[in-house]
Amino acid sequence: MRLILLGPPGAGKGTQAQRLVQKYGIVQLSTGEMLRAAVAAETPIGLQAKDIMASGALVPDEIVIGIISDRLDQPDMKKGFILDGFPRTVPQAAALDELLKKKHIKLDAVIELRVNESALLNRVETRVAEMQARGEEVRIDDTPEVLSKRLASYRSMTEPLIHYYSERRKLATVDGMMTIEQVTREINRILSAVGAVEPKAARSAAPARKTKAGTRKSAKPAGKKAGKTAGKAAKTAGKAKKAASRGTGRATRKAASTGRGAAKGRTAGKAKKAARKTVRKAAKKVTKKRAKR
Ligand code: AMP
Repeated sequence: MRLILLGPPGAGKGTQAQRLVQKYGIVQLSTGEMLRAAVAAETPIGLQAKDIMASGALVPDEIVIGIISDRLDQPDMKKGFILDGFPRTVPQAAALDELLKKKHIKLDAVIELRVNESALLNRVETRVAEMQARGEEVRIDDTPEVLSKRLASYRSMTEPLIHYYSERRKLATVDGMMTIEQVTREINRILSAVGAVEPKAARSAAPARKTKAGTRKSAKPAGKKAGKTAGKAAKTAGKAKKAASRGTGRATRKAASTGRGAAKGRTAGKAKKAARKTVRKAAKKVTKKRAKR
């Protein structure tokens, strides 16, 4: 999965990126985090970026493009990544397109978290107060004054990216004012609709299941409807299979009684067979229902 999270400061990009990292085992690339690390380590880039960041302005394009280009060459990128805070300008987006093309990487989606600006100030104030209460260090640019500047630079420099990606049919917008949980659900729904993840993986809390060979199951491209249909069948399948392998539970009983000739106390093999039948039936049912609509 290769994803860009777009949205003003405080929209929840970092929170959602973390959730995706945990769920899918991919890497979060936050240029803000990388720059803060460079500032802390006092590297040449850090020294250049320090004052710019503290003022709420944007670091020059060539610096962040260079950072991202180097990072995309690292082996852990193969699993997939979420870009959080990059690109932030049209030249950065164009440079990213070039980089991805050169590296033969395809972007799955750009998800915009749309939020109400006046609510952002409240969010930042709450976040700062909570961090202070926990005795944590507060970011130097997390003040209402600097946030206003960061918001202004989002509006003038980053918002044009919404048009940029929508023209390229990559953009999906999520209402970032919903609860964290609802936003996560919506992002997962989009990811499965664009075929970036399997519908089942998008729903479950566990990371992507491994095949027998130890390789992750590849995400099959799926349209919105196909994704939903497959998802319903997969849900039933998952329940029945799980129960069949346990040889116990309500789903097994359901699977066993649904299978023709089912009887109490059947063996795990028989239960598995019945489960497979239930899966096929469920898939057919869902497809029929959809066709009727
Ligand atoms: P963030 O943590 O994403 O809010 O970024 C914090 C600060 O780092 C921003 O206010 C910018 O000064 C700088 N920064 C992060 N990402 C970029 C980027 N893609 N382009 C320019 N400046 C950036």
